[in-house]
Amino acid sequence: MNLEGKVALITGSSRGIGATTAIKLAQTGADIVVNYPFEAERENAETVVAKITELGRRAIMVEANVADFTRAKELIEKSLEEFGRIDILVNNAGITRDNLLLRMKEEDWDAVMDVNLKGVFNCTKAVARTMMKQRSGKIINLASVVGIMGNAGQANYSASKAGVIGFTKSIARELSSRGITANAVAPGFIESHMTENLPEDVKEAMLNSIPLQRFGTQEDVANLICFLASKEADYINGQVINVDGGMVM
Ligand code: NAP
Repeated sequence: MNLEGKVALITGSSRGIGATTAIKLAQTGADIVVNYPFEAERENAETVVAKITELGRRAIMVEANVADFTRAKELIEKSLEEFGRIDILVNNAGITRDNLLLRMKEEDWDAVMDVNLKGVFNCTKAVARTMMKQRSGKIINLASVVGIMGNAGQANYSASKAGVIGFTKSIARELSSRGITANAVAPGFIESHMTENLPEDVKEAMLNSIPLQRFGTQEDVANLICFLASKEADYINGQVINVDGGMVM
């Protein structure tokens, strides 16, 4: 795989799967836009940019809350000002606000929908015209296996990820005639900040449901994203691909 000459924007890439993906895409040759949501994450974003620069690639960092329509538009505009094109959009930013339905607050529902689903809409809409003019582009959206199978305590998160899957298939149908592909990646249980604070008994139950008997790494997900971003995946479109050690099959 070779992404030399390509520009990739990864939302929520100051840490976790997003940061690992940004570095992997840079290793494969792409120049990178690192996005982080708030000033507090600036230092982490700087670390990611420094690692990319060490690899000999160009990188910029842009603060933007993807849940905010205007900020998401500005994120794309700043990326275009710097690089003049965007070849790969990875909609990675995501949050959880877990609770059982009866205890879930309206704000927990809204916050998760705003970042996980509306954020994907905001960034994709903002980049679509550019990719259509380029007559090429790769849109890769982070879904989750719980968007396919559901999960007690995650009605908001599961609904947002199921929404991402429907969104991905719809835009794949809309944009393909302009040379743009859209796919969703559905990770299972991946070791990251998002999963580190889950109770041990929940982790144990998860592990027992994974045929490969290990949790996924951020590299496991980044490898698939990198492949989907490459020319080698040109004929893969509108798909949901699990990276879950066989948890869902
Ligand atoms: P993570 O470590 O919590 O990283 C999420 C990233 O998104 C962070 O950099 C976070 O910034 C950023 N972010 C949050 N809200 C944002 C916003 N409004 N605008 C821009 N960036 C924002 O989580 P992760 O495990 O790497 O997850 C990455 C993606 O994979 C998510 O979409 C998640 O739903 C999905 N996923 C993860 C797993 C898993 O097991 N880990 C499984 C299935 C799917 P802050 O650091 O400031 O919060």
